[in-house]
Amino acid sequence: MVVPILDLATEIEFLWDDLMAAITRVLRSGQFILGPEVEAFEREVAEYLGVKHAIGLNSGTDALVIGLRALGVGPGDEVITTPFTFFATAEAISLVGATPVFVDIDPRTFNLDPELIPAAITPRTKAILPVHLYGRPAEMEPILAIAEEHGLKVLEDCAQAFGATYSGRKVGTLGHAGAFSFFPSKNLGAYGDGGLLVTDDDQVAEMARMLRAHGSRRKYHNEMVGYNSRLDALQAAILRVKLPHVDRWNAQRREVARRYNQLLDGVPGLVLPEITEGHVFHQYTVRILGGKRDAVQQSLARAGIGTMVYYPIPLHRLPVYGHSEGSLLEAERVASEVLSLPMGLHLDGVAQGGVVKKLIESL
Ligand SMILES: *Cc1c(COP(=O)(O)O)cnc(C)c1O
Repeated sequence: MVVPILDLATEIEFLWDDLMAAITRVLRSGQFILGPEVEAFEREVAEYLGVKHAIGLNSGTDALVIGLRALGVGPGDEVITTPFTFFATAEAISLVGATPVFVDIDPRTFNLDPELIPAAITPRTKAILPVHLYGRPAEMEPILAIAEEHGLKVLEDCAQAFGATYSGRKVGTLGHAGAFSFFPSKNLGAYGDGGLLVTDDDQVAEMARMLRAHGSRRKYHNEMVGYNSRLDALQAAILRVKLPHVDRWNAQRREVARRYNQLLDGVPGLVLPEITEGHVFHQYTVRILGGKRDAVQQSLARAGIGTMVYYPIPLHRLPVYGHSEGSLLEAERVASEVLSLPMGLHLDGVAQGGVVKKLIESL
């Protein structure tokens, strides 16, 4: 039995005719940079998310960079974020000249622990950047309350949480802006790089539109130093094919998670993820206790079962940020325990049963 952690072939096969029609339409139009296809996607995705502005960008990383700059974050500022995330979260803060200030996570949610945020606020703090890790919405209510009290901006990193909801609202629409990634493996993925910034704020949106086109509203009338960071028309057309299916796919992911939790219930040495409201399970991630994680991963690999460790090194321990060990204990502990199991539309009951059986044998 071979079970990859991720398999896009099922989805591509299912959508084949619609994808070919969309790609052909763009090729025949001759319009590859911005234009009607990108505008149509921006309209449709804004309506889906329930937000005023959606700006198609080159990648999720650029969405974070452009989002931070559009919110006024720059050199000398501090941005509070989680150390337990993909590097791009902190990298974006550094790229705009600001400093990431890492606050420890709640190991139960894998997300920023809101109770620890106030102690990290200084006169230089400008923003909070929560991540909805693995598709589980961060604790936005206390985060927004702290931001309000201290006059801070909130940029949500929604790269892993397209379609996730918090108190009935889509993530990305709760803070001042939300950044999404369409990297192929994400819950809504393109077939190449892509990203999106969303906001209800007209000025933030206008700034983001300028920044993605070399800091110009009008061609050759550049007003600031920006980026070349536009969503490709081809990717926009592909995303338009996929967007109408994303709620069903997210529901299937939750169903896979529910089955895992049922099959693994009560197994000693394992901590299972909670199936909370609005969680879209970009990853189904367990904690393996007792220092056995790496051995379990190797044993699953020998059996043909793909797993991943997201993420083995908390960002504050990377040489670029270089904080000493023992400063953010929960993130450090969890990084040595997490293992993400196969997740997606390719997992039928048989494959999932095989994964679970082998996992239990390996423990
Ligand atoms: C994927 C990801 C990003 C970066 O997105 P790209 O489109 O690959 O640039 C940022 N943050 C998180 C949490 C991610 O998972």
